[in-house]
Amino acid sequence: MKYYSTNKDAPQVQLEDAVIKGLAPDKGLYMPENIHRLPDAFFHNIQDMTLQEIAFVVANNFFGDDIDAKDLQHIVYDTLNFDIPLVKVTDNILSLELFHGPTAAFKDVGARFMARLLSYFINKKENNKTVNVLVATSGDTGSAVANGFLGVDGIKVFVLYPKGKVSEIQEKQFTTLGKNITAIEVDGTFDDCQRLVKDAFMDDDLNNRMFLTSANSINVARFLPQAFYYFYAYAQYKKMGYTDMPVMCVPSGNFGNITAGLFAAKMGLPIKRFIAANNRNDIFLQYLNTGVYTPRPSVQTIANAMDVGDPSNFARIMDLYEGSHGDISTHISGVSYDDNQIAHTLAETYEKEGYLLDPHGAVGFRALQDSLQPGEHGIFLETAHPAKFKDTVDGITGQEVSIPETLLHFMKGTKHTHEIPAFYPVFRDFLVSAK
Ligand SMILES: *Cc1c(COP(=O)(O)O)cnc(C)c1O
Repeated sequence: MKYYSTNKDAPQVQLEDAVIKGLAPDKGLYMPENIHRLPDAFFHNIQDMTLQEIAFVVANNFFGDDIDAKDLQHIVYDTLNFDIPLVKVTDNILSLELFHGPTAAFKDVGARFMARLLSYFINKKENNKTVNVLVATSGDTGSAVANGFLGVDGIKVFVLYPKGKVSEIQEKQFTTLGKNITAIEVDGTFDDCQRLVKDAFMDDDLNNRMFLTSANSINVARFLPQAFYYFYAYAQYKKMGYTDMPVMCVPSGNFGNITAGLFAAKMGLPIKRFIAANNRNDIFLQYLNTGVYTPRPSVQTIANAMDVGDPSNFARIMDLYEGSHGDISTHISGVSYDDNQIAHTLAETYEKEGYLLDPHGAVGFRALQDSLQPGEHGIFLETAHPAKFKDTVDGITGQEVSIPETLLHFMKGTKHTHEIPAFYPVFRDFLVSAK
């Protein structure tokens, strides 16, 4: 399968190049040239299939031409070594718990898959040079990427993060790993980290010396695998005895997660409609209301992984619907909640239903509560474990959230970092000497 750029000003490429490059040369996002519908028989039997079996069928639909079936199966099965259960919260609302992976957030799925796919392509090459993955993080991305790539042959990962600006749990998730993961503590802000990474990609001399790539969320290998669990959610829904089409609600920031859901629907997955649930960063809702897309600087909220003012994957949604505002508004609705509403929902759901949401999931739950019509059922994506936002969540419920074993395991490790100033020549020397 070929991949084209959403900006339509770059040559089409094979999967391998799309994965290794990440962004197209015209700065567009890569899209697969076809989205094939899956056969009816698949949907008839889906309730009897496992997560891994379902994911392999979906993966084959995209990657089957480009990867040997045995290798692809291995990549898929190895990526999904944890469950993604669908849990009933109220009579009409179900939670798809995406936090049972190694770093307790949905980003584990995409990051683990991408690491394995990249490694597959590198090992196929004749002169398999080490690939150096650079990633700047404000918290969650660094942990998912570092853990996804941990111990993967042929790849070194450098995580840059702002000193003193990520939570202790987040920091431990990428500074205690060792092996092929190096944590770089930058004396500066997240923007400084991002600038250092950009400078490195622009440095021709450095790129001639070492092979650099990025693992950010616009990479097709990180975003497409997120379609797997929409199918698995439906399989579990059907198995529970529901016969209607569910409403799918996705707490959204950069819009990669919901875009994977829209791809799933194009492959034939029966979803009644989608809701993109936002915090106060509601650029998408404004687009639905006005037909005009106006990015603006993000504001900080308690659902901070969704504090995005210019969601990259909007370009993919526009492309999917050929720019039709009418079609987009028919299939996707939008909603926005402020911190008080998020906190209130989190507290109330814990009290009334005994279900502890994280601040991002709370946005999704609330959106379903406010929009489901009589007879409808909704599934929201619970994108992270509440313990990842322990201070916020404890402050709202007045109780101590218990930390799952996966996260506790990181807390026991010893932090190893390299501290550098936010000054490119120092970062560059560090990379060259780490080679
Ligand atoms: C990244 C993230 C989101 C936003 O997902 P997008 O794909 O960027 O829309 C939501 N919740 C949590 C917990 C996240 O880490």
